[in-house]
Amino acid sequence: MAYSNDTESDIIVPKKWYEKLPREVWSHYPKVDQTDPWFEIYKLTESVYAIYEDGQFEEVISYLVLGEEKAALIDTGNGIGNIKAVVDGLTDLPVIVVNTHTHGDHIGGNHQFTDVAVLESDFSHNKADNGQTREQMGHYIDGDMVWKPLPPYLDVESWRIHPFKVTRWLKDGDKVELGDRTLDVVHTPGHSPDSICLLDKKNKILWTGDSFYPAPIYVYAPTTNLDQFIASFKKMTDMIPSYEWVMPSHNEPRMERHLIKECYEAAVNIKNGTAGEYTEGEAAGIKVHRYDYERFSLIVRAERA
Ligand SMILES: [Zn+2]
Repeated sequence: MAYSNDTESDIIVPKKWYEKLPREVWSHYPKVDQTDPWFEIYKLTESVYAIYEDGQFEEVISYLVLGEEKAALIDTGNGIGNIKAVVDGLTDLPVIVVNTHTHGDHIGGNHQFTDVAVLESDFSHNKADNGQTREQMGHYIDGDMVWKPLPPYLDVESWRIHPFKVTRWLKDGDKVELGDRTLDVVHTPGHSPDSICLLDKKNKILWTGDSFYPAPIYVYAPTTNLDQFIASFKKMTDMIPSYEWVMPSHNEPRMERHLIKECYEAAVNIKNGTAGEYTEGEAAGIKVHRYDYERFSLIVRAERA
């Protein structure tokens, strides 16, 4: 069955997107054997695992970060596979989920965990209370959006993003202590009102959520904000001496920090009308412009570009 692209143009979901898989970059990391083929698990460092869902178009990545006393699960994927079982197989430490933001593709497994930390905002309260219906997730698991077999234990008809309980509401500047490892919460709105980055100063890693990843970055939906996005990237650029590596929530697990500055400059140029060429398209009924750069793209509302 072909993916019928009735609400979104090729600008968002290129045809046969999965033909570019596997991405070469993953071959640089040891793959961890496990029994659920829905997930690909890679050991990025001695204490950081990437849990990669390459079977669905979003190619979402969750990260398991081990401290001495606790582990943080940075996002819980799209709720198609059983991420709790995967995490249980990787660590015996108590696990706290920390969400980079509460879009459906990052909170799908939240309801499976008892300890969940989320940046406090009206947006995230709404997601915690309601989750996202199958309808709100659009074509997420239809047609060409998924190329791998869905897990046999998944009830496809009832799949949705479940509501979940938040045990810790975060604010900018908070710290998540894992024992000899601290994640600093940095509020970076723009992609969503509740987007955060997590900074591990000791190990020089910045988890960027969906603020930055090596694919089209969405800054066009009604809840996105280009001005906030620029302000957040200014903040992330100023922080560059504190991290060596960037760990995004889609596509690739570990990228060079200079890309943050490049993305900041790109967004500023788009805002100022000095960014040059773009491709026009439509996404969910919104006219958009896509600006392509070597390692990423930015998709913004046409009326603001
Ligand atoms: Zn996402």
